[in-house]
Order: sequence, then C-alpha cells, then structure tokens
Amino acid sequence: MKNYSRREFIMHLGAGAGMLMLPRFPRWEKTPASRPGKKLGIALVGLGNYSTYELAPALMETQNCELAGIVTGTPEKGVKWQERYKVSDKNIYNYSNFDAIANNDAIDIVYVVLPNSMHHEYTIRAAKAGKHVICEKPMAVSVKECHEMIDACRKSGVRLFIGYRLHFDPFHRAAMKFRTLEGGRLQSVDSAFAFHIGDPTQWRLKKSLAGGGSVMDLGIYCIQASRYCTGAEPVSVTAVEEKTDMVKFAEVEETMRMQLEFPGGPTATALCSYNREANYLRLTSEKDRFELEPAFTYGGISGWTNAGKLYFPHINQQAAQMDGFSRCITDGLPSDADGEEGLRDMRVIEAVYRSAATGRSAALRGD
Ligand code: NAD
Repeated sequence: MKNYSRREFIMHLGAGAGMLMLPRFPRWEKTPASRPGKKLGIALVGLGNYSTYELAPALMETQNCELAGIVTGTPEKGVKWQERYKVSDKNIYNYSNFDAIANNDAIDIVYVVLPNSMHHEYTIRAAKAGKHVICEKPMAVSVKECHEMIDACRKSGVRLFIGYRLHFDPFHRAAMKFRTLEGGRLQSVDSAFAFHIGDPTQWRLKKSLAGGGSVMDLGIYCIQASRYCTGAEPVSVTAVEEKTDMVKFAEVEETMRMQLEFPGGPTATALCSYNREANYLRLTSEKDRFELEPAFTYGGISGWTNAGKLYFPHINQQAAQMDGFSRCITDGLPSDADGEEGLRDMRVIEAVYRSAATGRSAALRGD
C-alpha cells in the first residue's frame, strides 16, 4: 500500500473534480440568429429566501447563464426584482400565466425554488413548456412524483437537474474521492445536519407543503453524502424518530437517527434535526480519516485529513452549480446531479419513513 506524503494526499483529493467530458445527450443549441453568443436564460420560480439571498446574487457571477425571468405570486416582489435585476416586463410571470413561458425564447431554464410539494407540478409544467429544469432539493415528496417528473422531462426532450450544490463544492468532490485513495477500505461515513427551526407557522413544518420534516430538508444532505462517499446504493435503512415538541412538530418529524447499510459495508450513520445544532461529515478508511465541519454550509466549509488541513480556493456553490448545469445542456454532458439522482435519494427517504413507522429495518425498493 502506498504511503502518501501530506502534500500528495491532499493533492489527490483536490485533483480532477468535475463533469464527465464525453457528451451523452444531444448538444442543445439556441437559434444563433435570435440569440447569438448569449448566456442561457434562467427564470427563478418562487422568490423566497434561497432565490433572494443565494441564487439571484450568484446569477450575477455566472459565466454560462444569467437571470432572465421571474415567476412570483406577489406583484410587489416582481417590481422590486425588476428594479434590482433589470428583468424586462415580458419575462415576469405569475403562477397562473406561468405556462405562457413556453413562448418566451429568452428563457431556457426554469429553476423551481418553491415549497417541496410544489416541485412536482412546476417541474412538469416547465417541461411541458419545453424548458430545461433545475428543481430544488428534495426533488419531490414521493418516489412516484420523481418518476413522473423524469418521464415528463424525457417526453419533452428537456434536461432535469436537482439543486445539489455540494456536487460543485471542492470539499465534497474530495469527500467523494476519499474511498479511491490508498488508505484501504472505506469503513464508516458519519454525518449530521441540524439547526433550531424558527417561525412555527412556516411551510417547512406543514406536511402538505414540506412532505416531511428534518429528513426532507436536512437529512437529505446526509443521505446524499452517504451515497456519494460510498459510491453505492444502500440495501436497507434503520431509522428512529425522536420528538420532544409535540406542538411545533405536530405534522412533521423533528429529529431522525438513521443507519444505512451498504452492500459489503460500510455502515453510514446520519442524524438530522430541527431542534439542535450539528453540521459534520466524517469518513474513515482502514488507514485514513477525512472530516468536514461545518460540512453542509454555503461557504466556510472546513476540512481535515490525517495528513493535515484541506485548502481549496473559494467558490460560489450556487454559481458553480448553475454554470455546471448550463454547460451540461449546451455541451450535451451528463450530470451526477440529475433527476435520477433525486429519485435515488427519495427511495432512501421513503425507506427511512417506513423504518421509523414500523420500528424495523426497511429494505430499499427498486420502484
Ligand atoms: P421560502 O419560504 O423562503 O420561499 C418559498 C417561496 O415559495 C416564497 O417566495 C413563497 O412566496 C413561494 N410560495 C408559493 N406558494 C407557496 C405556498 N403555498 N406556501 C408557501 N410559500 C409559497 O423557502 P426557501 O428557503 O427559499 O426554500 C424553497 C425551496 O428551496 C425548498 O424546496 C428548499 O428545500 C430549497 N432550498 C434549497 C437550498 C439549498 O441549499 N439547495 C437552500 C434553501 C432552500
């Protein structure tokens, strides 16, 4: 077994992050006459916190795409956004006239940033309008919905991506590679993502809008990390729910402890909660360790291995994500954050809920 020097070990982790370069999808070319040399136009659907404070500012930094349109149910928000981002009148939609986006050549990609239970409807409507789709995580609130979204995009010949920003973060690209280093077999993946949720009236605490609680919102990061760090699909899941506040969490889960079994090992443990603070990803192999803390933030991720601290240049995750997806469209490249990836996570999430409900381990279904 090769002994890495500290420098070699860290360099191996950082090298080669990115997309597969062989086109597997038709390259998508805009009509050169109407939009020569233009970036792809993105319309944000839902102008809440994530759109306002992360995506729109990131779209000021992107190279391959730009903010072209907005979809909002609140006309006053539309006016403010129009002033700030110079969105033209004809590119502003509401939830009723949204389907007319089909006739708008300035918009190539619809980015769905709505409460979770609305992802299904707006992804399908965007696909029917002939637009590529980026859909926020969780992709939907059931495996069935995920299949319908994938089918709709396939039928319309448009691409579907999920807002898994960490696929574009160098610390997480390094975590994905850890198992391929020469430190021996990957032994464990342990992760936690938790915060104290505020406003008790928000949609995240309503089952009809959120589909679930901390698992749908935060646990999904741990499930993702467990899958991309092992490079495998779990065969079964054991999950235990803990609830201390029956009023605030009347409709959705507060805390979930999960254990994911992978074929031939390793075991992954994951914790998510709306009622404590935690934010880490820890991997061990026979010889090495790799840790991120905080692990799942937009910026400020810190990482170590047994060979020393990890340093990567700062990136804007959201800008890198939207540029990356745009390039997948224009260059016909595959993405490891597509609808199929969102579906795989949803299969695990459904197994988590089955296990928590029955008190027994739940096998992953192939549905
Ligand atoms: P938010 O509450 O701040 O915004 C939600 C938006 O949806 C608002 O503009 C609201 O007006 C609109 N909306 C339309 N119909 C609604 C309804 N019936 N009830 C409530 N709101 C309605 O939420 P957010 O934090 O921006 O989250 C939106 C989506 O983005 C969620 O799916 C969330 O999981 C995802 N998200 C992803 C990340 C990430 O890091 N990838 C971070 C934050 C949020």
